[in-house]
Amino acid sequence: MQYHLNGFRPGDPKRQPATQNTKTDTDVLIVGTGPAGLTLAAYLAQFSHIRTRIVEQRDGPLVMGQADGIACRTMEMFEAFGFAHLVDREAYHVNETTFWNPDNTGTITRTGRIDDVEAGLSEMPHVILSQARVHDFYLDLMRNAPTRLEPEYGTQVTGLTIPDEGPVSVETNHGTIQAHYVVGCDGARSAVRRALDIPLKGEAENAAWGVMDILATTDFPDIRLKTAIQSKNQGSLLIIPREGGYMVRFYIELAKLNPNERVADRDLTPDDLIAAAKLILAPYTLYVKDIVWWSVYEIGQRVTDQFADTGPNDDIPPRVFIAGDACHTHSPKAGQGMNVSMQDAFNLGWKLQSVLDGRASHDLLHTYSAERRAIAQELIDFDREFARAFAARGQDPQTFQNHFQKHARYTAGIETHYKPGPLTAADTHQHLATGYPIGKRFHSAPVIRWADAHKMQLGHTILADGRWRLFHFAGNTDHTETLASIIAQHAPKGAEPDAIIDLRTIVQTPHREAQATAAHMPAKGQFHLQDREKLFCPDPGSNIFDMRAIDREIGALVLVRPDQYVSHVLPPGQQDALVTWLSQIVGSA
Ligand SMILES: Cc1cc2nc3c(=O)[nH]c(=O)nc-3n(C[C@H](O)[C@H](O)[C@H](O)COP(=O)(O)OP(=O)(O)OC[C@H]3O[C@@H](n4cnc5c(N)ncnc54)[C@H](O)[C@@H]3O)c2cc1C
Repeated sequence: MQYHLNGFRPGDPKRQPATQNTKTDTDVLIVGTGPAGLTLAAYLAQFSHIRTRIVEQRDGPLVMGQADGIACRTMEMFEAFGFAHLVDREAYHVNETTFWNPDNTGTITRTGRIDDVEAGLSEMPHVILSQARVHDFYLDLMRNAPTRLEPEYGTQVTGLTIPDEGPVSVETNHGTIQAHYVVGCDGARSAVRRALDIPLKGEAENAAWGVMDILATTDFPDIRLKTAIQSKNQGSLLIIPREGGYMVRFYIELAKLNPNERVADRDLTPDDLIAAAKLILAPYTLYVKDIVWWSVYEIGQRVTDQFADTGPNDDIPPRVFIAGDACHTHSPKAGQGMNVSMQDAFNLGWKLQSVLDGRASHDLLHTYSAERRAIAQELIDFDREFARAFAARGQDPQTFQNHFQKHARYTAGIETHYKPGPLTAADTHQHLATGYPIGKRFHSAPVIRWADAHKMQLGHTILADGRWRLFHFAGNTDHTETLASIIAQHAPKGAEPDAIIDLRTIVQTPHREAQATAAHMPAKGQFHLQDREKLFCPDPGSNIFDMRAIDREIGALVLVRPDQYVSHVLPPGQQDALVTWLSQIVGSA
């Protein structure tokens, strides 16, 4: 973390000086304080010149329940927001998963035990933590941001109108709010989606499931491991151990529903959930001492055709968006709902910011729906297959385990791959850095920071601050100064040279031999202090050039979007191509 640039500031460096925003109109109105809404709010809260408001119909923050699975990819994003270490410390770490199936007497028995996350997939773990705590971390960020953004609780959106010109009018129980952009992060029953008249399309599986967070005693040996149990005749159970060492979550398969029947019609109670869980776990015992939270749901996979008021082929740029459960719903067991919702918001946040900054054309906003709709559809297809495999009767235990392993990369959240488009270049030069596929997230690797010999993850230099990163993996020819002048051209007048594009150089030389001249280290702030954290060297134990298959002779430029996805891979010498691409996507200053 870098601070004290413009003078010593006592106290917690995370608490940034408050700024006054005299604007009376709202730039972005976010509806809903779920994971999607809070990700977007925390992102936008740091930009003083953007006036963001966030409204929530509940009277206060979520305290318990709902989602709990945090994928490796989400932890990578939390790192960019600066609170991954807090989640890491509090959460349950999913290290191994076990599988239980009936033996030939029909008694459940352990049939498999595997690593939960494939080695090398991410530097971040797969963890479990209450959605409410994730909300808390975001709320803290918002409170410490220059805008000191706080949700407006007890405010329910009831409708909206989009005039041909001028701001969108949003009706609430406290009156009308005018906003230039509105983002409906208001969950599966989204009022914003209904106001846009965009239907959620898809199918229901007619299967009822129960979920409960409990404190219980049991002689089942794997109660502190993520466990999938398929009993002979009593249905399936997924055990998710929870943070804190004692609490555990059960996802329990309940009865099949009749066509058009809703789970609510069954009047299920916690006792029904406990009874079903006991039958699946037998002959092991289960004594539930406390039910912390419970819910019942039916599985259905649904997605809207577009995630904004106008489609990608419309001439009019979008002004109202929907994100998260408002535009895609799926079964909770694959643990994707919260993760994908936050990634929607992370994708939209920087685009809104770039347009509101006046740097990008309004057309950029079309890419949100185009990119995220495709990802949601993949998730729905995956989830349908996963939910069916989970509930399938009499299948070979190995089949389910194989299925689980095959999709582990997907559930880790790292399979998102944006197709070539306005923000994602063609793979012409991909061979220079095959470990950084264009369109996929920047896969971190260890490096040594030259200035202070600090061993760290290169990916952790990417902060959720709206900047692009240009990683210059140096080959045999020195391109430092030219690259520095290109990125400086994109910085607005009076701003730091790396305000829009942050150039970082990784050389092949060991850190004790590398020279300061190998990287551009700009002078910044009112005292023109040199930023010496721009140069990195390989970690001899795990050399990034080998790990990510970088061409050592030519080197590679890896351009990374503010949401951590690789936008382009280029030869460092092809500066014209770089300038053309940058002008197209970040605009010129
Ligand atoms: C009861 C419940 C149980 C769940 N259980 C699980 C689970 O066990 N495992 C799992 O992985 N996922 C679960 N989920 C799903 C998971 O929580 C979601 O996928 C995730 O929260 C999606 O985030 P989101 O921000 O899109 O929406 P949400 O988290 O649903 O947030 C939407 C927010 O908008 C607010 N809101 C809604 N309408 C309005 C309005 N008109 N005006 C103002 N505010 C409004 C809501 O109060 C809410 O705070 C559950 C969801 C619910 C609702």
